[in-house]
Amino acid sequence: MVRSIAILGSTGSIGRQTVDVACRLGLKVRSLAAMKSTQLLEQQARLLKPAYIAVYDEAAARDLRVRLADTEIAIGSGEHSLVEAAVISGADAVVTAVSGSVGLRPTLAAIEKGRRIALANKETLVCAGELVMKKAEEYGAELLPVDSEHSAIFQCLNAAADRKKQLHKILLTGSGGPFRGMTREQTAAVTRERALAHPTWSMGPKISIDSATMMNKGLEFIEAMHLFSCAPEQIEIVIHPESIVHSMVEMTDGSVIAQLGSHDMRLPIQYALTYPERGGMIADSLSFAQLGKLTFFEPDYGELPCLRLALDCAKRGGTAPCVLSAANEAAVWRFLDGKIGYNDISDCVERALSRIEIIDAPTLDDILLADAEARKAIDP
Ligand code: MG
Repeated sequence: MVRSIAILGSTGSIGRQTVDVACRLGLKVRSLAAMKSTQLLEQQARLLKPAYIAVYDEAAARDLRVRLADTEIAIGSGEHSLVEAAVISGADAVVTAVSGSVGLRPTLAAIEKGRRIALANKETLVCAGELVMKKAEEYGAELLPVDSEHSAIFQCLNAAADRKKQLHKILLTGSGGPFRGMTREQTAAVTRERALAHPTWSMGPKISIDSATMMNKGLEFIEAMHLFSCAPEQIEIVIHPESIVHSMVEMTDGSVIAQLGSHDMRLPIQYALTYPERGGMIADSLSFAQLGKLTFFEPDYGELPCLRLALDCAKRGGTAPCVLSAANEAAVWRFLDGKIGYNDISDCVERALSRIEIIDAPTLDDILLADAEARKAIDP
């Protein structure tokens, strides 16, 4: 059982919910890390009394040192401080809830310490899945998913005596996002505000845009391939607008096992920390009579270029998923800053993929280079 944790990305949506789960479970929080939200970091620091806080932004770190001058808490800054927070002594598990590929190095460092990783940062597995999974095996570090779909698959597979032999297919569900059923012509004028309003889940800005473009489902597809060692042919995406079935697995005999629940990310967070046990009731009970019916259909790949690109990269392998993810990350922030239109996001990703040479069996350096190049290659 996990007794103490580190939280990377503590001020984001998953981070704040992790703080709530940690308090309910009575876990000790040894370190926090965030980009720059010092007011919230100060509140969290006074509540949780961690030994160390990493603040990515230098100016914000200076501000936090002033705010917490009356405490013993050590405060680091810059990218390396994230690694310090991830390997803090006395933490059994690290919740990686930072957004983007900045999560890669701290996750690898925590794996080398043999810590349990509660993985909410999907970009890490998308960019460096083979490397990360190999390292986790080498150091005996457990990698448990926090992403609701992957937590669902993990929970379903726990019903299998031998998941490698008995798993036939993963049915990865997705709500389809706020623009489900719209054509590319109709999404051309989509604004930042409309794209940020997800119908079923409340999330941070980057993942909200990824959910709208369905890039998120593509990244989750790649994440699932690594987590559950599956071939692309073994994963099928199913649109399920109600987001009640969080994903399913089909076993070799045709039996399908699903995990269902209300829209509450605290459930997968808690499960990743209490596994193999289950914690107390944290999500609302589902009322099936009230739900009435659940619907499922196939995605319209013709209108979803981001999803198509992601599936191509999943099949291509090598540095292709890393280029995809990094180019997408840069393009999404550009869209959020009002510099490009909604449909330009997929064009940016496509451009980067056409310009950058894909390398097979990449090393960490190859991955970091591909990531940096992809961000530059999105310009017309
Ligand atoms: Mg998800």
